[in-house]
Amino acid sequence: MAEELPQRQTDIGPPNYKDFLPPVIKNNYGKWKYHEKLSGGSMVHVGESGDELYTVRVASPRLVSTDFIRDLTAIADKYCDGYLRFTTRHNVEFLVSDKSKVDPLLAELKEKKYMIGGIGDGISNIVHTQGWVHCHSAATDASGLVKVLMDEFADYFTGAKELPARVRLAVACCTNMCGAVHCSDIAVVGIHRKPPRIDQDGVKKACEVPSTIASCPTGAISPDPKNKSVKIKDEKCMYCGNCYSVCPALPISDPDNDGVAIVAGGKIGSLRSDPKFSKLVVPFLPNNTPKWPEVVSTFRNILTAYEAGAVKHERLGEWIERIGWEKFFELTNIPFTHQHIDDFTIARETYRTSAAFKW
Ligand code: SF4
Ligand code: SF4
Repeated sequence: MAEELPQRQTDIGPPNYKDFLPPVIKNNYGKWKYHEKLSGGSMVHVGESGDELYTVRVASPRLVSTDFIRDLTAIADKYCDGYLRFTTRHNVEFLVSDKSKVDPLLAELKEKKYMIGGIGDGISNIVHTQGWVHCHSAATDASGLVKVLMDEFADYFTGAKELPARVRLAVACCTNMCGAVHCSDIAVVGIHRKPPRIDQDGVKKACEVPSTIASCPTGAISPDPKNKSVKIKDEKCMYCGNCYSVCPALPISDPDNDGVAIVAGGKIGSLRSDPKFSKLVVPFLPNNTPKWPEVVSTFRNILTAYEAGAVKHERLGEWIERIGWEKFFELTNIPFTHQHIDDFTIARETYRTSAAFKW
């Protein structure tokens, strides 16, 4: 076995995660025998040594206050020797190595109204991005959408209701997709629908023309020497907002035309079937704040049809592939539109084909 290299101290990159592992994980690293779910928000890992690690999971709103973090760390100090972790889906996990502390921990979390859950066949917390709070190119809000969806589907998080398998939800507020939208069971992605506007004076003052032109993946931007600015060919623009990241004088946000698309059927895991990319389900829904009723009812439709039709352990994408996308649109009452047809240059790859024809 290769010898582990000595750890060098540098100021580049994150510190080694192994420095932060709870002792029970360090001692049983790679030697876990099994794990099992105890409730909607707790599970136990048992090592070959007989050691046990209890995990208690709660939701977090992701954009959190220092008071919230202080409270989490105080709870972790009290019950888990200070050990907790944040999961990739913004759940918080308290890692308890002393079984006698699990029930008191659960009692305190309940008393403080933390939402305990996210383990097993239901939804976990919704991985999401910055939204209007923080990012320049957001076409929708992330925190607002997540709040309404989690309010609506809380029972699937806490374990009060179960689904056939785990359902991972995600929200990204633009097509840069900082959230895991491309590989989640159901996800929302913010979309712009108009080309950026050009602030000629701003381009002159704040932007580098060659890098602005180079930032456009479709070649829609060209120089405008007369105005010392740039021109945009509208018909070539796909409203991605890349140019706005490079040149702040090309704003793309538009309250009347921005909104969201919904995609479904993705997954990361390779259990039973290969990982899958999500596919477009609804091309556009408006930003009907603060409750996004159209988005919530679309999620409800998809989850209800999936719950009724899928077999145990079948992920949403696997269920759709088994029944066929035509049936999926029929069961969910979602209209099939021209936007669902992939007309990208290499679309051929995504068509179902037989020796005779594509459809
Ligand atoms: Fe910003 Fe887009 Fe990422 Fe949202 S998804 S945080 S708008 S880059
Ligand atoms: Fe090009 Fe995207 Fe800017 Fe449109 S929004 S001009 S496609 S970089």
